Amino acid sequence: ILTVSGLTKSFGDGEAETLVLKGIDLQLAEGEMAALLGPSGSGKSTLLSILGTLMRASGGSHEMLGTDLMQASEAERTEFRSKYLGFVFQFHHLLPDLSAIENVMMPAAAAAGRETAPMRSKAGELLDAMGLAERRDFRPAAMSGGQRQRVAVARALINDPVLVLADEPTGNLDRQTADEVMALIRSINDSLSSSFLISTHDAHIAAQCPRRIELLDGRIVHA
Ligand code: ATP
Ligand code: MG
Repeated sequence: ILTVSGLTKSFGDGEAETLVLKGIDLQLAEGEMAALLGPSGSGKSTLLSILGTLMRASGGSHEMLGTDLMQASEAERTEFRSKYLGFVFQFHHLLPDLSAIENVMMPAAAAAGRETAPMRSKAGELLDAMGLAERRDFRPAAMSGGQRQRVAVARALINDPVLVLADEPTGNLDRQTADEVMALIRSINDSLSSSFLISTHDAHIAAQCPRRIELLDGRIVHA
């Protein structure tokens, strides 16, 4: 589903230019779940932002589902993102005034311009799958950190993304809660065809993914 080759990213220009991604070659298959492991500053977030079309690469090629995302216009990239990609961040970014189920439905309702009954039932199923059947009507403030991150994972899945990009989704959780969230992501990955790419600097978290891609100083040292 995804192929990047020779991908580079630099920030700044002239004397201040720094090359952060130094030629990334990477392929992801349908349904795959991979950890993107690397120390702080190795370029994990930068790579996820580029793969998520939130930022453009400086050079190389970036293709997904037959679309050349280097050549695509901003409008095409935005449409591609909303159709095929899902995101989970370190901080859940849930809307505080919405219940769990409303937060999960939000990307679908926003895309359609309104909420529909099928959306609500699908959001409910995703919350069930994330072990949150009893928490549907709770607001984020009334949930634990692990529960909020599980809502954020359910929200990332509402539009049936082909690829979910998760940037340190367990970075803000204690180890036991992080393990629970990872186990739920694994089980949902087993039951859906969505692929997951999950960044972490924690080898223990990465060990829970079937594939580990290691980034060091802007280069892949193991894929
Ligand atoms: P962490 O584990 O701390 O989140 P990371 O692997 O996600 O680290 P990135 O955030 O991708 O690392 O940053 C990689 C390098 O790129 C760092 O040296 C950072 O300073 C630099 N960098 C990232 N974003 C920018 C930017 N917008 N402008 C300039 N430099 C940047
Ligand atoms: Mg980062």
